[in-house]
Amino acid sequence: MEYNSIAIDGPAASGKSVVGKLLAEKLSYDFLDTGIMYRAVTYLIQEFNLDPVEASKLFFDSKLIIDFSNLQNKIIFQEKDISSFLFTNKIDSKVSDFSKIKSVRENLVSMQKKISNNTNIVMVGRDIGTKVLPSSRLKIYLDASIEIRASRRSKDLNESSEEEIKKMLESRDVIDKSRSNSPLAIAKDAIVINTDDFTIEQVVKNIIELYQDE
Ligand code: C5P
Repeated sequence: MEYNSIAIDGPAASGKSVVGKLLAEKLSYDFLDTGIMYRAVTYLIQEFNLDPVEASKLFFDSKLIIDFSNLQNKIIFQEKDISSFLFTNKIDSKVSDFSKIKSVRENLVSMQKKISNNTNIVMVGRDIGTKVLPSSRLKIYLDASIEIRASRRSKDLNESSEEEIKKMLESRDVIDKSRSNSPLAIAKDAIVINTDDFTIEQVVKNIIELYQDE
């Protein structure tokens, strides 16, 4: 059986995850936020001193499990849900550096492709339209101004000021866009949506209309 997918890419805090999750809910598709996989690898490197490539391989033998049932994206390691540890300044400040490593990317991309073979899915990340699911029926690139992105993210990360968050987002953007392996880029056939002036519901409605037109 052939499954369908929608690829959503864009910079940090552009609204990808909330939009992707609601979209998946409306379409009764699965939802995978691939950023959480890069965050989990970063966590294992930082907390357990694991080698980055070894950490990224753990997904293959189910030592690191992504539970995406009920549209949640939980990461389980040694039978513990580690998801709540993955959205901290400590992770944010290093994740883009580890995400640049070629073999780490190859392992995670291969796992993401494997997941998409078995289900209808909305997948969000940086390289979904360009690298992971290049034949997706619909590719969206979500963008937003740095001010809006920093203000959204400061509501999640209350450890830092909006100015600090802005600097961190800008530095992640630079690394994510300039790396040599599958950088953040707009796929040739992607539709760009700027979310600055729209609610989540409006963006999701727009994407569903685009999907129905495909
Ligand atoms: O989307 P999120 O902000 O959680 O992603 C965290 C980091 O993981 C990104 O800044 C990027 O370095 C990396 N990432 C990636 N490719 C993806 C998803 C995330 O390189 N498909």
